[in-house]
Amino acid sequence: LIVESRRCAFCRGNLSGVWLGSSFCRCVGCGLIARTHLPSDAELYELYAEAWDEPSEHAAETGSMDDHLARQYVLGLLSTHGRTDLRGLRLLDFGAGTGALAAALEHAGADVYAVEPYGHRGLVDAGHNAFASLEDVPESVSFDGVITMDVAEHLPRPWEDFARLYGRIRPGGWICVSTPNPSGLSARVSRAKWREAGKTSHLVFLSETTLARMLRSTGFASISPARWHVRYGRGLQHELAQRLLNLTGLQGASRLIAYKPIAS
Ligand SMILES: [Zn+2]
Repeated sequence: LIVESRRCAFCRGNLSGVWLGSSFCRCVGCGLIARTHLPSDAELYELYAEAWDEPSEHAAETGSMDDHLARQYVLGLLSTHGRTDLRGLRLLDFGAGTGALAAALEHAGADVYAVEPYGHRGLVDAGHNAFASLEDVPESVSFDGVITMDVAEHLPRPWEDFARLYGRIRPGGWICVSTPNPSGLSARVSRAKWREAGKTSHLVFLSETTLARMLRSTGFASISPARWHVRYGRGLQHELAQRLLNLTGLQGASRLIAYKPIAS
């Protein structure tokens, strides 16, 4: 009943009741799925501080990207942009976790900046160009591309972060956003038991449609899905299933590439 009186913080649409029997509600206007009771800033701080004490034990908060997956994502980026390497590109890994993707991007030749609020010290120690927040990156630095993988679901108001990132991308540059897909097969089948909905630090879920709408409202254009064929190394059958899900839009991730228009 509390939910019925609430409005979507993004589009002011009505939030309908419980989504798939979970602790989330869904906006009738934009499709945003948000935790019915958002944890307070203090609760979130405590959650992340505890997780970063032992990062490998808390992959939901600190990032579950390993070197293999990071290399697969770089291959996906290369195929999307029709390139063989990332040389000459200054890229930002926003929400870099324990640094696997930043390392893979560097390996492919990019000049990589990493932002990670809680774990940036470890990234600096590992030799990365890392910062605790976007505001700490010198103002003179602008990016050819921003990658933010499995981060948006942790943000209470991701559209505000997209706007801040937009301001740091050069005209003609791009953003790649990947986040769990609430319209995917796994969410539809598992409903309230969906693995992603069970993680306390996951606050919002964005379908491809909702994410595209959010990026468009920020100013991004030429928005398209990046349904890469990621090899998880779990056998041929698993790989064929992933390809089928990609074709039908039922894949596990909402992953879009969007461009900042070149001012006319
Ligand atoms: Zn909405």
